[in-house]
Amino acid sequence: MELADYEVIGERVEDHQEYVTYDWEWSEGDTGPAGFEKRGITGLAIRKYDSSLCTGCSVQYNPMLILFSSAFKGEPFPKVEVVSGKQQLAADGFENTVLFGKCACHFNKNNPNIKKAIQLWGCPPDLEKFVEVLANEGIKCDYNEYVRFRHYLFGRYKESEGFNLADWSVK
Ligand code: SF4
Repeated sequence: MELADYEVIGERVEDHQEYVTYDWEWSEGDTGPAGFEKRGITGLAIRKYDSSLCTGCSVQYNPMLILFSSAFKGEPFPKVEVVSGKQQLAADGFENTVLFGKCACHFNKNNPNIKKAIQLWGCPPDLEKFVEVLANEGIKCDYNEYVRFRHYLFGRYKESEGFNLADWSVK
């Protein structure tokens, strides 16, 4: 993995190095991505992921957001909070608390703030199970919405000049 082990042709890599900071814009009240606020989604507080969320749950986090987004039909969510990772404690004042992943389930096991826990024990949680469990609470997520999103992402590359799917395939 050392740059020195590769033959580099063309411009020098060092000339194009820069540190890039990236953050996902969240609402001021820590209730979800800024885009949720713009869409008018209310009754839902998804606490922003922190550094205790490891790879497994990180991979599922974005799909989880898309699934919640798919369940929004213009009506407020029924006072739902979502916590994840190893250090987020659920707050008071919610009807339902989604504990996303076994770490959040363990960490909130005896949390007196929780009125009704929706536990997703997986490590990481399974998305189809997520859809099923939330449907039982009247929150109808559409898994196909997530599939459509993946297709949309893929489509963006497909149209780019020079993209060849075979370059990204493992043989
Ligand atoms: S539930 Fe598993 S994947 Fe998620 S944060 Fe905990 S250890 Fe990581």
